[in-house]
Amino acid sequence: MGKVAMPAPLTGAKKISVGMLSLGCPKTLVDSELVLGILDKSRYEVAEHVSHCDIALLNTCSFIQEAKEQSIDQILNLAELKKEGQIKALVVLGCLVQRYQKELEKELGEVDAFVGTGDYETLNQVLGQVVQRKRISQIGHQPGFLYTAAIERIPLTPRYTRYIKISEGCDHICSFCMIPTFRGKHRSRRLDDVVCEARRLVEKEGARELVLTGQDTTYFGRDTDNQFLLPRLLEELNRIKGLKWIRLLYAYPSCVNDALIEAIGSLEKVCHYLDMPLQHISDSVLKSMRRGMTKQSTYALIEKLRKKIPDLAIRTTFIVGYPGEGEEEFQELLAFMKEAQFERLGMFVYSNEEGSHAASLGGQIPEAVKEKRFHEGMVLQQKISEGNNQRLIGKTLTVLIEGRDEKNRRLYRGRSYMDAPEVDGLVDVRVPDRIRLKEGDFVTAQVESVAEYDLRAAYLQLETS
Ligand code: SF4
Repeated sequence: MGKVAMPAPLTGAKKISVGMLSLGCPKTLVDSELVLGILDKSRYEVAEHVSHCDIALLNTCSFIQEAKEQSIDQILNLAELKKEGQIKALVVLGCLVQRYQKELEKELGEVDAFVGTGDYETLNQVLGQVVQRKRISQIGHQPGFLYTAAIERIPLTPRYTRYIKISEGCDHICSFCMIPTFRGKHRSRRLDDVVCEARRLVEKEGARELVLTGQDTTYFGRDTDNQFLLPRLLEELNRIKGLKWIRLLYAYPSCVNDALIEAIGSLEKVCHYLDMPLQHISDSVLKSMRRGMTKQSTYALIEKLRKKIPDLAIRTTFIVGYPGEGEEEFQELLAFMKEAQFERLGMFVYSNEEGSHAASLGGQIPEAVKEKRFHEGMVLQQKISEGNNQRLIGKTLTVLIEGRDEKNRRLYRGRSYMDAPEVDGLVDVRVPDRIRLKEGDFVTAQVESVAEYDLRAAYLQLETS
């Protein structure tokens, strides 16, 4: 690395405050919580705000172009704060670092240290160097980090909702994705270790909702035990007293088997919610994407899920503007959306990831066409979502209360089983004057009116278990 003039060391009688800004997905959020947990508490204390601390940590994302740009913008914002003296040092971690080590080291002289996705456990050594005003890069070539229940996590979510990462890395070979190159091969945690952590989060830290995450949660156990262990894990978690909801993110469609459908449908604490990115429906696009699914197998899977779990909320994502996606393939996708009536849906505009197979393909789609398709797809989903919500009017739902409206104090805000934190809709619950609710309470409420994505409901009662 090039030489950079360094100011005086960051030492003194007081503890050094460390702030964290976590970008990207829940998997990165878990890493950020672990990083804060790994900090030597005799030397460092966790700051409330990343913009007012001695050392700012920025955990980055590099999933798609938009995520990369956001990460770079935040690095530059924090570098500006460093220049103004509001923070004293800046450490950048995570996916962007793992992927673009050389470029970042060269271009971003304001950054004091870089830490890769497999190197979080070295954080105290890295900060030791930063405190001495030595610039450092700690980036292993093969990310192999896999956390265990023994590592403390400092929560960045409310105590009642906690994420658990059950595996790291990915063994799939989707043509558009570079994640396996900077997150490594799939590594499952031990089932008993996950259960041990879940018990601690519920019994000692007060979690009521556990959200299971990983690059592909359905692959859990395949590498360690040569079998799909997710259904068994759900069974074990379902036994934890005090836990109310278990929610599953990032299911890979070709690994959603009968045992998993049975577990989701029958275990009382497992939300009837499945986040399952399908990415497309056209056979030619799916084949090129190397998703291991066809149009026919996708339709069959959706039909089976709907039949076995009638109130299942399916969240999916689609990519529009993939190379070779002609107007015909795009119309096929819209027709599928109309038929499947997904409760939750996200759409990405395809972006070339350098080094990926898809980036080398012919038939790249002009940006304006991609944007038009994205817009058309989202307008359609808005209508579908509103129609789905209309059908909920008069129904009763369990709502997890997350806060209270600042202006209208009779209105509380929460989520139903159909809503994962951050990405899905909200339920506003109208509560009589005499009722006071706390964050983390579960209430029964009756849906009164709806918008495209959110619901308005009337409070009926507090749920006690
Ligand atoms: S499943 Fe596919 S898209 Fe998801 S992380 Fe693995 S390779 Fe990437």
